[in-house]
Amino acid sequence: MNESIKKVVKFGGSSLASAEQFRKSAAIVLAEESRRFVVPSAPGKRFPEDEKVTDMLLDCHRLASEGRDFSARLAAVRERYELIRTGLGLAVSLDEAFAVIEENLHKGCSRDYAASRGEYLNGILLAFYLGYAFVDAAEVVFFDEDGIFDGEKTNRIMAERLSQLESAVIPGFYGSLPDGSVKTFSRGGSDVTGAIVARAVMADLYENWTDVSGFLMADPRIVRNPQPIKLITYRELRELSYMGATVLHEDSIFPVKLAGIPINIRNTNRPSDPGTMIVPAADSYGESVITGIAGKKGFAVVHIEKDMMNQELGFGMRVLQVLNDMGMCFEHLPSGIDTMGVVLDEKVIAGKEREILAAIARATEPDHIEIEKGLSLIAVVGRGMIKTPGTASRVFAAVARAGINVRMIDQGSSELNIILAVEEKDFERAIDTIYREFIHA
Ligand code: ADP
Ligand code: ASP
Ligand code: MG
Repeated sequence: MNESIKKVVKFGGSSLASAEQFRKSAAIVLAEESRRFVVPSAPGKRFPEDEKVTDMLLDCHRLASEGRDFSARLAAVRERYELIRTGLGLAVSLDEAFAVIEENLHKGCSRDYAASRGEYLNGILLAFYLGYAFVDAAEVVFFDEDGIFDGEKTNRIMAERLSQLESAVIPGFYGSLPDGSVKTFSRGGSDVTGAIVARAVMADLYENWTDVSGFLMADPRIVRNPQPIKLITYRELRELSYMGATVLHEDSIFPVKLAGIPINIRNTNRPSDPGTMIVPAADSYGESVITGIAGKKGFAVVHIEKDMMNQELGFGMRVLQVLNDMGMCFEHLPSGIDTMGVVLDEKVIAGKEREILAAIARATEPDHIEIEKGLSLIAVVGRGMIKTPGTASRVFAAVARAGINVRMIDQGSSELNIILAVEEKDFERAIDTIYREFIHA
């Protein structure tokens, strides 16, 4: 068995959306002998108005479950694969695979099964094209009875299976439940599979090939031409991903972190760009004290005021107990001497606002309590901040100069990030303003 450098390469949907993109991806794989384990997504969009195959399959499932005719939709899925197959001149047939999928849709298959077929079919084509073995992810990625990913079982069985192979294609996004049925990760989950495979084969590097030249300092849809990040730590990245910088699925950090494997985000359309290196730890930081900015809309904050609450034993506990009893997670908990804010996801509390306020009021007898909705959270992340006093004041001064009202602030104790809440209407402008404060390009 080959003991030299091993890389796991994951290709996102746009990198495998057409025959032309398949060619680029395959050329990347075959350019280095080390690129032995490949994780494909389902075909993504070929142009902005195009559909992702995963969405088309979910639509087939919806129609099937409503007892409606899905044949035209499934034919459209089939057409996507046929274009790739014939475009590459591959002598492999998907007839049987499609017959099985159609039958299962008729028989009332699960939504996850339908969604997962995008990766499954792409995996078959890619394995054939590369001349690599095909390993069905259902045989090597496992979830437990509760649908929770079982990292240890997966690692054991996958490591054993892949150690017998020189090279392989393992479709992303899904695995199986103890009863053998298919279960998927959440959307964008092929990134997670890539990380799991990297850990299982003890890869030297996990390359994640997408349609941007690395992780940019801010969402390119908000900031014009943001700079790429050369190097970022896992923890910084996790903060950014959690806050909506969705280049990489947030759960894809854990498996590689466990094994200390770096991730390299690369651009399939510009393979010579170095991309972003994501590493376990870094002492120094780059030209800018902040590494990146990300944010999300759709938050609410419960403001609680009570004189001297900080001296009242168990105050915070009682607030959290209420949320716990209602089965709700909170996002942030900024607090002052007489005030406490509880930041919640609007989707989680929808329709229960009055109930929450009443329950917290009963539990804490506050002087004042109110809920404010329509907020967005922005995270300014940087390992350099801890060493550079004044970063927070620069952030707030810049935002204030732009006439934006900051509704709440929270600085994590790690000093890795500063979180601020602004009204949703100010979201994009606040991110752009903060970016310009630190990057003069
Ligand atoms: P893939 O299909 O390859 O997994 P994704 O669409 O999941 O790709 O992720 C890449 C996209 O993420 C980019 O095209 C870009 O629009 C978006 N994006 C959001 N935030 C950032 C960021 N900070 N840096 C780079 N891309 C970002
Ligand atoms: N195909 C899946 C999705 O569209 C998973 C992925 O692309 O990573 O979400
Ligand atoms: Mg993705």
